[in-house]
Amino acid sequence: LDLDISTDGVLTADTNLVQSWADLNALKQSGARTVIVSAEGAMVRDSEGNELIDGIGGLWCVNAGHRRTEIIDAIKEQLDTLDFYSTFYNFTHPAAAALAVKLAELAPGTLNKVHFGNSGSVANETAIRILHHYYNRLGQPQKKRILSRHGAYHGSTNLAVAMTTPGYSEGWDKSGELVHHLRCPHHWREGGEMTEAEFLGVLKQDLLDTIQHYGAETIACMIAEPIMGAGGVIVPPEGYHTEMAAICRAHDIKYVTDEVVTAFGRLGHFFASKDVFGVQPDIINTAKGLTSGYQPLSATIMSDEIHEVISGPGGMFFHGMTYSGHPAAAAAGLANIALMEREQIPERVRTSGKRFEALLRQLEEFDIVGEVRGSHFMIGIEFVKDKATKAPFAPEELIGLRVAREAQKRGLIARPLGNILILSPTLIMDDAMIDRVADILRESIAALQ
Ligand code: PLP
Repeated sequence: LDLDISTDGVLTADTNLVQSWADLNALKQSGARTVIVSAEGAMVRDSEGNELIDGIGGLWCVNAGHRRTEIIDAIKEQLDTLDFYSTFYNFTHPAAAALAVKLAELAPGTLNKVHFGNSGSVANETAIRILHHYYNRLGQPQKKRILSRHGAYHGSTNLAVAMTTPGYSEGWDKSGELVHHLRCPHHWREGGEMTEAEFLGVLKQDLLDTIQHYGAETIACMIAEPIMGAGGVIVPPEGYHTEMAAICRAHDIKYVTDEVVTAFGRLGHFFASKDVFGVQPDIINTAKGLTSGYQPLSATIMSDEIHEVISGPGGMFFHGMTYSGHPAAAAAGLANIALMEREQIPERVRTSGKRFEALLRQLEEFDIVGEVRGSHFMIGIEFVKDKATKAPFAPEELIGLRVAREAQKRGLIARPLGNILILSPTLIMDDAMIDRVADILRESIAALQ
């Protein structure tokens, strides 16, 4: 294998991979970069011939597992029949149309209208464009502000990164004038001595104060991941989404959930908003697991009511990407969902994911593990210097990266994120492999004690 893999490439192309500057500098200096050459099921193989458990599912996305022939065959067949046609104006094609119908069937309530894009960032930007246009059409052009949260991750394009937690764009320009970040709903880090219920009260008050400060007539929406992912796998207090959404609804502010990670089985359901958190959003944005990563595809799924306003008499929502609903991507999405339904992957995750979560929670026995959090196959392990005070490791100690390296030596890919290690594996691991992941993590942490 003769590849020129510059370490600068890590910096320029993969800032998403390792978020802390200390991690990045360490990686850059070491020149270490793993070359993944092939994959099968829950495993990948690197250019040195090492077989590794894919503990991050590619990048929170290979939900159905690697090299599933049903998905690959569907893509091939689609390309053999119709390589490309757009979904613009009065055109569509069978795969995009069928996938839109399927998503409407799976999405909760009246979320029946789908706009396809090609990344999670685009899905989020699309939702905002839709809502801005919606309020323009309703004669409320001043209703444009976006409420996001500290700790959020919504993507890398200009507005998506502005909606993302400010730490991600330190030193970068962004168009953030319209975005306000609410408090991060992380009870363990942010809640002090409060009970979870008291902390929820503070979060609700923060939202109410923010609405009062700007005026509801200037706020279009609140956007929230059901569980924050790249911000460190943060599960909000019980009842958070339903209560925040209720406040928003009372002020005519739309509730948008970013289910780029939490959908397609990762938490045991096709969508987590309603089925896991009991909240009915006005828009759901999704990507990643929609095709299990086999093709780039995202969807912005809006309510009938929003769609009616933007496309009603005299309406023209002029927005789309050339590859919106690309035939091969739509075919991948359809095959992926069919496979998940046939194999009952979301249902099985309710058992296997719970086992994974329970085993990983046992890692809290280690002195340097402050909190193991998340749900099912979406887990974050936060390391601390001092368990009693929750004092963090200094960035230069590279704790996440060091544990990830120990794990990789033992056959597991995990993702370091500063002081946190993230696990977002494929959803098809059997019990033996789940046990192996827990054992490797245990050995890797012990090696650093
Ligand atoms: N939203 C969430 C919750 C994500 O985790 C990500 C990516 O990790 C995005 C949006 C952005 O998606 P993409 O990288 O496909 O643009």
